[in-house]
Amino acid sequence: MADSSYTIGVDLGGTNLRIAAVSPEGRFIEKIALDTEVKEGRERVVTDLCDAIKELERRLKGSKLAGIGIGVAGIINLANGTVRQSPNLPGWSDFPVRDDIERRLRTHVILENDANAAALGEKWVGAGRDASGLCMMTVGTGIGGGVILDGRIWHGMDGMAGELGHMTIDPNGALCGCGNLGCVEAYAGASAITRMAAAAIRVGRSPELAREADALGELTAEIVYIKAKQGDLVAREIFEMVGRSLGVALANLINIFNLPLYVVGGGVARGWDAFAPALMAEVRKRSLVYRSSSTRIEPSSLGGEAGLLGAAYLPHMRDPQWKNQ
Ligand SMILES: [Zn+2]
Repeated sequence: MADSSYTIGVDLGGTNLRIAAVSPEGRFIEKIALDTEVKEGRERVVTDLCDAIKELERRLKGSKLAGIGIGVAGIINLANGTVRQSPNLPGWSDFPVRDDIERRLRTHVILENDANAAALGEKWVGAGRDASGLCMMTVGTGIGGGVILDGRIWHGMDGMAGELGHMTIDPNGALCGCGNLGCVEAYAGASAITRMAAAAIRVGRSPELAREADALGELTAEIVYIKAKQGDLVAREIFEMVGRSLGVALANLINIFNLPLYVVGGGVARGWDAFAPALMAEVRKRSLVYRSSSTRIEPSSLGGEAGLLGAAYLPHMRDPQWKNQ
């Protein structure tokens, strides 16, 4: 490894804390996977994170560490390096996480929203490798988003741009965690899927789904997906709702951006075959730009690694911070 260089990417989520050393070509060299000990407090989480980075440096002694990028689940204020709000990291509001980590590691780190990092990862070595720009919706428990224009993350004024999951698709719709009614997240995220399934079970519409959830001791989006694949009507309806909802959101995005590629990632994207037909039909119906162009809509090609790779790419960007834009 002598004379070679690498960057470190960190994916700091509410459940998993992953740290990886990545080559300049976007290949994993070393990985460390930990649980995010959220309940132990942020001091513990930041200590774990910094210890893991130091451990990777030890393992790769002789190679040059070219930079550290950290993707965080939450709304980031890029100007002061704080987590403004994160449902996944309670107690982190307005905590100057960047300065704290920089002080401990005595080096510069680049902070980014995890969904923006995922979009960047797909652009670097994923579905968007050959695309000039892309827009990605990361559909997990909730829905995050990232917009890459001309090879750079679109940050907006404070770094909060790209909150695609909170696009309103039904003005009088279901209540979203953000306080708004009818966000796409309230119809297509994993939480929405289990909420819709639980509602169907409550009114006795899906005994099959109820039995399955009982047997497994919990109701998850994955169970709903498996049942949809087995032909359960209620489960299929739910995934059609997921597809239609994402389709409405994507039609809006396509009309706004006219980008060559839109990527659907996150855990729910594993159910692509169950929701994609409804999604495509909705987009075709609603977007003249889509019908008149060669726009591509594809599932993520990096899966759960998109955010980690994108975080590792941050140091490679010439001037990634908002203030240099
Ligand atoms: Zn919302």
